Amino acid sequence: MAKRDYYEVLGVARNAPQSEIKSAYRKMALKYHPDKNPGDPTTEEKFKEAAEAYEILGDENKRSRYDQYGHAGVEGAGRDFGAGGMTVEDIFSHFGDIFGGGFGGFGGFSSGGRSRRVNRGSNLRVKVRLTLKEVSKGVEKKIKVNKYVSCKSCKGSGAKDANAYNTCSSCHGSGQVTRVSNTFLGQMQTTSTCPSCGGEGKTITNKCTTCYGEGIVKDSEVIPIKIPPGVAEGMQMSVSGKGNAARRGGVNGDLLVVIEEEKHPELMRDGNDLIYNLYLSIPDASLGAPVEIPALDSKVKIKIEPGTQPGKILRLRGKGLPELNGYGRGDLLVNINVWIPKKVSREEKEALKKLKESENFVPDRDQIEKNFFERMKSVFQ
Ligand SMILES: [Zn+2]
Ligand SMILES: [Zn+2]
Repeated sequence: MAKRDYYEVLGVARNAPQSEIKSAYRKMALKYHPDKNPGDPTTEEKFKEAAEAYEILGDENKRSRYDQYGHAGVEGAGRDFGAGGMTVEDIFSHFGDIFGGGFGGFGGFSSGGRSRRVNRGSNLRVKVRLTLKEVSKGVEKKIKVNKYVSCKSCKGSGAKDANAYNTCSSCHGSGQVTRVSNTFLGQMQTTSTCPSCGGEGKTITNKCTTCYGEGIVKDSEVIPIKIPPGVAEGMQMSVSGKGNAARRGGVNGDLLVVIEEEKHPELMRDGNDLIYNLYLSIPDASLGAPVEIPALDSKVKIKIEPGTQPGKILRLRGKGLPELNGYGRGDLLVNINVWIPKKVSREEKEALKKLKESENFVPDRDQIEKNFFERMKSVFQ
């Protein structure tokens, strides 16, 4: 069956803000929750469809890939919510945060009166160092991550084999325990997940010897991470399902990738703009000269006009960094300085003394004011 458009599924506009997407998903999830529609299989399908749409549109990275390439752009990026994929409970444990305090108010959603708490692996955080050139082009980095992975011997179950289980003696297999307590409102009955078996209803009698019953083992994995152009220091990307595996067959955590920026030897970054400090000699600034600017991708040749003043800023359009998830590019700002020698020879001293006598070398008040406004204009344009 062809997948429906995610925006259509949630009933929101393509430019809807995150808050709207979140609230649309919340409404759909409440409306189509199977417990509110017992015996109706189509609502469960609708429920899963909405969860899948939210998995993508609720994440700005995945959303922009979906906007650009459609379903093909996010294949494998989401969890498998379809048939044979996640259960309704898995979806709730995954998106639980958007429902606030959980579903207590609805008597606790559960299928068949039994809820199994889903283990979730912890998130992992790694740092990725990028040069400005890599920021400019985008890059795929292969990163070796030390983490917990599912135990191969027991397929993550933690049990030696299929017979290595006993029915839990605390909950007698139901996975839940009920406690009655007296309050000033009368007797209150609370049902919660059985702490002895974690809601599984059974305990392992014969543990897997590889993982000692945990279902996970320490290992490392090389994970390719696609970093889009235009990221900046401190940004965090999340690679879904690539964090630690959960104990005994739960849902994997996410891998959080934090961007670090390497200092460029010549260029400074200001948002999407780059700044280059150009130093001219006094003769070059006075007579004009061709110079080369080390832009990120190539050297850019520019001409310095005769009589160029220090403090002037030249703006090389589109030679900056690309906008993240956008189409524009920043500029390269060339900040012009004039180098004044710290020491001069006897001959140079004589030459400078001669220049001092020329009225062209006396600062011109009118020109200075004009320079100042020109500079302001180039900074704020
Ligand atoms: Zn139990
Ligand atoms: Zn094992």
